[in-house]
Amino acid sequence: MAENYKYDHYKSVPDPAEKVNFKKKKPKLIAVVDEDNCTGCQVCVPFCPVDCIEPVEDEKYGIPIPPVQVRYDECIGCQICAKVCTKLTWDAIKMIKTEEFEENYNYSVSE
Ligand code: SF4
Ligand code: SF4
Repeated sequence: MAENYKYDHYKSVPDPAEKVNFKKKKPKLIAVVDEDNCTGCQVCVPFCPVDCIEPVEDEKYGIPIPPVQVRYDECIGCQICAKVCTKLTWDAIKMIKTEEFEENYNYSVSE
């Protein structure tokens, strides 16, 4: 329908999570926030099905609205936050292969 054309952009954006779940195994991908590009708008936060996105601690930047960060050990790699940020805000979340992430960030993601 002609009237619907304007909503096409949002088609791939899922609904916010209805209930908080938890991780069952190590994911193939991990969400990494580009803190320099993140406005701290927190639009992504209610979409995460395991509620693992949080603002960076105040001390790190000392600004009123800090960017967000992902608690890597809880992320299930669902990519929802990346889609939401790309479609609705600033494209500040990248999905990285877990092995690559562990190597580049020198961090071991828990099972
Ligand atoms: S939606 Fe994007 S810009 Fe907004 S807080 Fe989340 S990662 Fe940052
Ligand atoms: S990919 Fe994003 S939305 Fe999905 S669990 Fe990880 S941080 Fe949450």
